[in-house]
This record gives sequence, structure tokens and C-alpha cells, in this order.
Amino acid sequence: MRTASALTATIVAALAVSLAPAWPVAGATAADLASRADAAAPTPHPADRARPAVVERKVIGHSRRGRKIIAWRVGDPDAKRTVVVLSTMHGNEPHTRKILYALRDGRPIRGVDMWLIPVLNPDGLHRRTRKNARGVDLNRNYPYDWKRLGGSYYSGPKPASEPETRALMKFLRQVRPSRLVSFHQPLHGVDTDTKNPRFARRLARELRLPRKRFVCGGVCHGTMTGWYNHYFAGAAVTVEYSAKPSTAMLRGPAARGLLRVFGARRSAR
Ligand SMILES: [Zn+2]
Repeated sequence: MRTASALTATIVAALAVSLAPAWPVAGATAADLASRADAAAPTPHPADRARPAVVERKVIGHSRRGRKIIAWRVGDPDAKRTVVVLSTMHGNEPHTRKILYALRDGRPIRGVDMWLIPVLNPDGLHRRTRKNARGVDLNRNYPYDWKRLGGSYYSGPKPASEPETRALMKFLRQVRPSRLVSFHQPLHGVDTDTKNPRFARRLARELRLPRKRFVCGGVCHGTMTGWYNHYFAGAAVTVEYSAKPSTAMLRGPAARGLLRVFGARRSAR
């Protein structure tokens, strides 16, 4: 018993040292220190220790079935440009998230402040369905040019009715990226008929995809990119890969190409 409590005391002391603030403490209250600690050290997570590129991990919301929607921040939070990359808004489009995992799991990234949301529709991914657990097409559920649509494009009972939609809206309002890339499948191309055609052309060049104009079968209502491009200064672009892109291409050339689009690079070590 005595040995165990001595050990506990040692661990507590060691923890106290390792958690001690690195800045001068004179005149600071405990509440001050706690709030500064929050600002200086965002959400540590055990899994991040093996991921040197990750600087923050955030749960931006939950799906209709309660699954977490996670955003990973990589790169340099002080960089001039903030960008967001997201994938798998449709659960039956599971492959492009490999690009995001490759960016997350490699060496540190410099030159951009980048947020990655690999799975926006975790319930759909679990069931391999386009729509969320309530049967809503999340890319028709945004509150800009929303229209009542049925069938495979069911747009929900009202704009922003879905928790996945509201989670991303809230996150984007906080982060306000100057560039936003939304990966889909299987149309194989970059939508160059968009708010910032230069950005779209650069994406097409670096990702080696054809430039296209996506007409969404005439039902381009309530889309995420439409909403973002209308209400924010930044530019959002839809990028589609084929039905079965190779994992090697996604994790290699596609991930590297995306870094070049943003003028970013991996650090040497
Ligand atoms: Zn899609």
C-alpha cells in the first residue's frame, strides 16, 4: 500500500512538472493560466503523437446516429492562407478521403493553415449510401438556393435540417477558409465553372484531372459549394475523382499536387 501511494505521489509530481506553464507566472491568476493554457495547447489526443503533421484535432459535430465528425488541422496555424479540404459528404464515395489521410499522416506541412475533414457523412460511409441516416442528400441541404427535391437527391424537410450540414456550416463560419475543396466521385474532373476559375484550373493542372462543368442533372440546389461561394469571400470548388481511383495515386501524386495548389510543402524532417 505504502509503495503504491508513494508511486502515485511520484506520478502526480511528475505530471505537475510536465504541465507547468513555460511562461512567467508573476501576477497571473489560476484562471488566467488555465485560459492561456487552452489557447496555447489545443486538444491533445493520444493518436496525434504518431502524426507529426497534426497540430489540432477537433470534433466539429455529430451525425444523425451520433458518430463524430472530425477535423484535423495540419500545417502552420499562423500561415497567411487558411484552407479547408473535405471528403465523403456522400457515403458511397469513400476513396478520396485517402488523400486527406495521407496529408494528415505524413511529415509536418509548411506554408498553409489547412483543415482536413475526411468523412463528413459517417453514417452514410458506414452503410455505403449516398445519403445520411435520414435519407437526405447532404449536398442538397444547404440554405442557399434550396429547393424541395425528392428521390436520390432528397433535400430534406427544410434547409440545413441535418446535423451534418449544421456542423459544417458552424465550422466554416468559424474558420472562414479562403479556399475550400470538396472531393466527390465518380465524375472525374474539376468544376471550372465556379467563383474562382483560376483556382479551379490550378486544381485541375496539379491533380491531373480534366476541367469540366458539372450540371448535377439539373438539380444544383442547396449545394455546399453554392452556399459557401455565395455567402463568403473565399472560393469553394468541387473536385471529382473516378469511381475507383488507385490508392497509390491518391496517397502520392494527388496529396502532393494538392499541397502545390496551396503553395505548401512538407518539412524536410
Ligand atoms: Zn458526391
